Amino acid sequence: MRNLLGGKGANLSEMTNAKLPVPPGFIITTEACNAYFTHDKQFPEGMWDQVLAAIKTLEESTGKRLGDSRNPLLVSARSGARVSMPGMMDTVLNIGLNQKVLKGFAELTGNERVAWDAYRRLIQMFGNIVKEIDRHKFEAILDEYKAKTSGGRDTDLTVAMLKDVVHDFKALYKAELGKKFPDEPLEQIREAIGAVFNSWFGAPATAYRNAEGIPHDWGTAVNIQTMVFGNMGERSGTGVAFTRNPATGEKIVWGEYLLNAQGEDVVAGIRTPHPISELEDDMPKIWKEFIKISDRLERHYRDMQDLEFTIEREKLWMLQTRTGKRTAFAAVKIAVDMVNEGLIKKKDAILRVNPIQIDQFLHPRFDPEAVEKAKNKGNLLAWGLNASPGAATGHAIFDADTAAERGQAGEKVILVRPETNPDDVHGMIESQGILTQRGGMTSHAAVVARGWGKACVAGCETIAIDMDTRSFRVGDKVVREGDYISIDGTTGAVFKGKISTIEASFDEESELVTLLTWADEIRKLGVWTNADNANDAARARAFGAEGIGLCRTEHMFFEEERRPLVVKMIMSEDESERQILLDQLLPFQREDFEDIFRAMDGFPVIVRLIDPPMHEFLPTKDELNEEICQLKLNIKNNPTPAKQKRLKKKLKETENLLDIVESMWEVNPMMGLRGCRAGISYPGLTEMQVRAIFEAACNVTKEGIKVYPEVMIPLVSHVNELMLEREKLEKVAKDVMKEKKSPLDYKFGLMIETPRAALTADIVAKYADFFSFGTNDLTQMTYGVSRDDAEGKFLRHYITWGILPNNPFEILDRDGVGALMKMAIEKGRKANPTLEIGGCGEHFGEPSSVEFSHIVGLNYVSASPFRVPIARLAAAQAAIQHKYGRK
Ligand code: PEP
Ligand code: MG
Repeated sequence: MRNLLGGKGANLSEMTNAKLPVPPGFIITTEACNAYFTHDKQFPEGMWDQVLAAIKTLEESTGKRLGDSRNPLLVSARSGARVSMPGMMDTVLNIGLNQKVLKGFAELTGNERVAWDAYRRLIQMFGNIVKEIDRHKFEAILDEYKAKTSGGRDTDLTVAMLKDVVHDFKALYKAELGKKFPDEPLEQIREAIGAVFNSWFGAPATAYRNAEGIPHDWGTAVNIQTMVFGNMGERSGTGVAFTRNPATGEKIVWGEYLLNAQGEDVVAGIRTPHPISELEDDMPKIWKEFIKISDRLERHYRDMQDLEFTIEREKLWMLQTRTGKRTAFAAVKIAVDMVNEGLIKKKDAILRVNPIQIDQFLHPRFDPEAVEKAKNKGNLLAWGLNASPGAATGHAIFDADTAAERGQAGEKVILVRPETNPDDVHGMIESQGILTQRGGMTSHAAVVARGWGKACVAGCETIAIDMDTRSFRVGDKVVREGDYISIDGTTGAVFKGKISTIEASFDEESELVTLLTWADEIRKLGVWTNADNANDAARARAFGAEGIGLCRTEHMFFEEERRPLVVKMIMSEDESERQILLDQLLPFQREDFEDIFRAMDGFPVIVRLIDPPMHEFLPTKDELNEEICQLKLNIKNNPTPAKQKRLKKKLKETENLLDIVESMWEVNPMMGLRGCRAGISYPGLTEMQVRAIFEAACNVTKEGIKVYPEVMIPLVSHVNELMLEREKLEKVAKDVMKEKKSPLDYKFGLMIETPRAALTADIVAKYADFFSFGTNDLTQMTYGVSRDDAEGKFLRHYITWGILPNNPFEILDRDGVGALMKMAIEKGRKANPTLEIGGCGEHFGEPSSVEFSHIVGLNYVSASPFRVPIARLAAAQAAIQHKYGRK
């Protein structure tokens, strides 16, 4: 009933049914919340009566009464969405307290301090959350009194001081609102429910949903629950714990607690809590019971749980269980461990890990040598808690607004805060990492950073942040706003300055590799890679690539010694001159292909023939004009005839080149002389490439390497282009194989990059062994949106304004581009049943696009090397969730 009751409510109900010690309560549904918003922020009809009836039941079951000074019922009102949104919405505690109830409550608990403390918390929360009085105003009053104590902590406040605090809080309340603080418990409840509803559309919750892609129309439930008190002295306490370590996944109960405290003290990061393992010494009986419950809950939900508990005078109460947020590393380890423990199936494990999270395994870490150097230089400033793994370097920024602004402008920033709260979310999103002075592993900063895979060092108490000077100090070292710092969320270290990073390694023994191997058993899609050189190919193979789906050959032309040959080739005036230059280029290409084929031993390699507009290999008009001016100037200033002659010759050549560049200039080069059009227009060019491919293939075959070359013709729009190129090139391939006496298993095919190629797929398929969807161009041409210009400009606005749901160059547009793909697949396979069909645009390493590829029945997807593991997992998830090749 998660959708109706929210995650928290559903789990509380389930724990109650399982007879676990849960404080009695009731739940107002997410439906009620949604009705509240459609009814102009009025409770839906009948809801309040139901609340009153539920309170009656609660009074009966607890024997306590609202407003009864002899045995008062106090409740909390907490939010609870379908999915956990940690700390993003509001909670009001200690509802039901007033001056009269407080007396009875103090007598009942024998603890006047607890009563006054609870009352001041109610006024503070109610004032801030329900009535939106600036929380700093309350904190300022509290700080003033704390400063008068010797310890300086809130637990050091005496009863007399708390009474004064309450007095001052009430005065603040009255001054701000012109009304007295409401002492009527039912009024408190009513307003608190409204406030929790309202927090669904509060700025932090809205920003969090935007970042996480959570729909805005889900609404939050409100959990009204009997209060239990963790601040009734040293035999009481409160804590949060995970059934496994949420950072590493290690199977050990992990968390923290505070004695004599209320729930928000732990998560707010105001006091630094103790590790949960110390509870075993503090309260052995409670510890035993807690471990038993934690184990039971994990087995019941078959997933790592995030638990909240309170101990009220040696009685354990479970306040919450929910699926715990975890790092990518923990997600994978827990999923694999749970399969090995027989708790879940391999299929479940595969679905438990978000493919995007795998990215974190492949993220850089600090170079240990650079770390050593930084330490030797005295740049290690401090150690905090290793709250969320990963390495981050950036400018230290001391508030969320500035971090958001500078981060959005493309700067690398690290948000440094005393502690974070939901108001800081927008700045955290834009930061590379987060460093906090206070707070534990379950503080807001830690939980949010872990969920997002950002590096976070929390509770770094040795940095003394001074918000006035926007700096922090460790001993005599000062870090000012804008200075570079580096934080290591895996170890907790904080450094001054930049530290270089190294790429992550992909350990064969790791749980990730195990999980991906399971994924490979399930997936139907092949996962290939886009690689233009042997290094990338080797890396992609290590990541599990089963072929190269796109080797862009033009990159090979840009290298230093080759480019002059390419320029001359383009400028050559007759075919024989061009052929001489092509003959000089051939060995370079052949060598490149040999290396790639060796790296891909046993796997297919699709080589795409030259694609970009030819002028991309030439200097620009501006560059040439500048050079011409300079040459003219030099000629004028250089009277020696020999030098003059040389300069004049150079000037002539440059002017010639400018003529050519001008003659080749196109208004729309993306739709100009590129792709197969270039191959057709420059005789000998693609022949040279195909000769290089097949010579290389035959050569390495002799070394015992298995080669499956596939020649891909780009940007075809009419079948005649394909026929012309294929006929001419296949002849070259056959000639080479004959010369080398080395027959090969080869393919010729085309990229489907133009809508016309897709529309005529049945025709082109007759002349092709394979199709590969080039969805970068296909998106560009289907949308009629320039891939080079639009993303940073209007497309960005389109997404912000909700005109487009996302960037179609990132996530495949199923309705438009996808429809063309479906049609092309169907027509193509009908005309040529053995047609191999894959995709090699940037989309094919993105999980939703991989899912679509599975649904429409591609044979493989080809992704950049670092996205190969992501595609493997996404393909397996698609295979679990959808039929392959659905019509
Ligand atoms: C494509 O268009 O999708 C493609 C892979 O080719 P390129 O990005 O090189 O144009
Ligand atoms: Mg393309």
